Order: sequence, then structure tokens, then C-alpha cells
Amino acid sequence: MIAKSMAPFLEGSSVIRAMFEEGKKMAKVYGAENVYDFSVGNPGLNPPKEVKEAINYINNEMDPHLVHGYMANAGYESTRQAVADNLNKRFGGDFTFENIIMTVGAGSSINVLMKTIFDPGDKQVVFSPYFVEYANWARNYGAETVVVPTKEENNFEPDAEGLKAVLDEKVKVVIINNPNNPTGAIYSEESIKAVAEVLKEAEKEFGHPIYIISDEPYRELVYVDKKVPYIPDLYDNTLIAYSWSKSLSLPGERIGYIAVPNKSDNAEEFVAAAIVANRVCGDTNAPSLMQLVVERCMDAQVDVPYYEKNAKDLYKIVTDAGFRAVVPQGAFYLWVKSPVEDEKVFVAKAKEHRILLVPGSAFAYPGYVRLSFCISNETIQRSKESFDELGKDFFGK
Ligand code: PLP
Repeated sequence: MIAKSMAPFLEGSSVIRAMFEEGKKMAKVYGAENVYDFSVGNPGLNPPKEVKEAINYINNEMDPHLVHGYMANAGYESTRQAVADNLNKRFGGDFTFENIIMTVGAGSSINVLMKTIFDPGDKQVVFSPYFVEYANWARNYGAETVVVPTKEENNFEPDAEGLKAVLDEKVKVVIINNPNNPTGAIYSEESIKAVAEVLKEAEKEFGHPIYIISDEPYRELVYVDKKVPYIPDLYDNTLIAYSWSKSLSLPGERIGYIAVPNKSDNAEEFVAAAIVANRVCGDTNAPSLMQLVVERCMDAQVDVPYYEKNAKDLYKIVTDAGFRAVVPQGAFYLWVKSPVEDEKVFVAKAKEHRILLVPGSAFAYPGYVRLSFCISNETIQRSKESFDELGKDFFGK
């Protein structure tokens, strides 16, 4: 018998994963080359060559006991120091290894942070559309999710006034994901500053920290000349959750980190608690081999111009077919307005043309769909005919 508390997880079980399975079934029927699967954000690019070189070096040259053994729960000191140095080099700051905890990817980073912060009955605020796992993860710790919608006319930027309206003494966390999944937007410094101002006031009013968890797995995937704001510069109680799933195309390897700035509330005690949270959540430590790999790949990244070309080509194909879409600035998603109110009708129609999309309701934002473009450029090119047919279904051109 399963626990009653599992029910909400099962009800909301992932639409995106279901589409992924659907894609595999359709590929068997129509042939993989005739199915245009824009559902899952599973990076299609190979990891950069530095990853393979690092794996070979570690396997050939390093002591296997060190490579594969148990270690401190926070990870190898050398890896943590390399992360700290890299952050200091890129953004300034005073990180040392003591500010960094290696984790099993961004999902784990966020769970560990939530375990460290939430008591049952606490709340987090998210800006929709948002990555819905945030709500599932908060539920693991008895915390509630309050959703503040963003607006198309405001480029889907976080709404500081909307945030102000929902804050109360139970709110302990606000999650910001930038560049954004699913809109592909890069939130501006101005809107994050406005959020920070609201939170600073609320911290004074309620007498406790309200943390921004800055979820940054797409930080390096940027296609326009726009800075991704570095939130610790704008707000002291910012905790960074990072992952190499996208920047090095290593999602199956499960490797990421948490960075806790010295200027955040009681940073030393917080890090000590988060290290324990990492252990008691069951991860124990991040994968040892992958820690040693990323330590040697701090400046490496996937072929970002490839994704940039995908972004341009898919945007053109989709808008030429008559649909309205947001120009992707970062991450690897195209956010498209559904031509009919119920976007699930649009998703079903697209499937008839062997195009797989994710409905916006999977991101708590009906009326839109998400297309993931981390697939091959050839697949994107081949999808043009199907998009043109889909356009005719709705606009009759
Ligand atoms: N946060 C966002 C916004 C994501 O899109 C994803 C994965 O798609 C994650 C977190 C989880 O990343 P990881 O694979 O590192 O757990």
C-alpha cells in the first residue's frame, strides 16, 4: 500500500515524461525521422571534448580508491575550490570551497536547499509559467507553493507587485529560474531588482530571511546580447542551484552544486545544515567521478551556437506557419501562443502531424505550448512541412 501523501504526486505525474514515452511509441510506427519530438529538454549535443579527456585522464592517471571512494558529504575539496574560483573569476566575490556543496544535479540542489529551509506549513513563491517540479519538491518538505503569474505584455518577467501581494510570514523562499524554462526569456536586472526590493522590505516586516533560490542550469545558454543578472549582487539572501546537465550535456550523470554566499544569513551555519540535508535526503555525496570531471571542465561548454541556430530556425518555421512565439533569448525552449484557448486541443492537432509539444498547463500557464529545441537541426528543418500543415488547420492559408 502506498502512502496517502503520494496521491498529489501521482495526479500531477509528469506530462512531459508522458510525451517523451508517446514520442518513442510514434517513432516505432512512423519511423524516428518522421516524428518531430519537441517535448523533453534532453540535450541532443554531445558533451564537449574536455569531458572525455578528463574521464580518460582520471581513469588512467588517478588513484582508483580516490576516484571511486566515499568522501566528505559536501564533495571533494579540490572540486569545491574549483567551483569557488570559477564563480569569483566570472562574477567577483569571496567564495571558497566552504561556500560550495556538490550535489546530484539542480534537482538535488533545490531539494537540499528546501530541506534546509522549510518547516511544514511554510511557503514558496514561484513565477508562472514555471518548472512544476518546484511544487512537487516543496511538497516533500510539507511546504506550499504560491504562484504569481507573469504577463506576455511584460515579456513574462517576474512581477514584483504580484509578489508583494502574496507575501506573508510563512513565505521562506522565492524561486527564480533564469534563463527561463519554459519561456526562453532572460529576466532583466531591472525586474529582479524590483523583486529584491520587495523581499528586503518583507524580511524587515516578518523578521526572518526570505531566500531567493536562483535556479541556473541554463546560465551559459544565451543567444542574445543580454546579461543574465547575477542575483547575489542584487540580493544578499540568494542561494545558487547549478547543474552541468545542460552546459556540458551531462543530464544522466547527475552533477551540480549549491553556492551559499558569505553575506547570506548565518552562512556558516546554513552550509553546515545543508551538508547534513544532503546526507539525510539520501544523496550522501555527488557522484565522485563526475566531480573530478567537472573540476577539469570549468570553462568548457557545449556548442552554444548550434542551439542558437536551432532557436532561429525553429522560430522562423513556427512563425512562418502563422503562430505567435517569443523570441528565445536563452535556455533551449520556444514558447508559443496557442491559436485556440484550450492549448491541449492544439497539442492534439499537432500530434496528428507528428509534432509533439508540451501544453502550457504543465507549467501552470494554459493557452501556450513549449517546444524544446535541443534536438538536431535536421529534425527542425524536416518539421517545416508539418508545421505548415498545422498552420493551415488553424488559419486556413
Ligand atoms: N530546473 C530547471 C528549470 C530545469 O529545466 C531542470 C531540468 O530540466 C532542472 C532544474 C533539473 O536539472 P537537473 O537535471 O540538473 O536536476
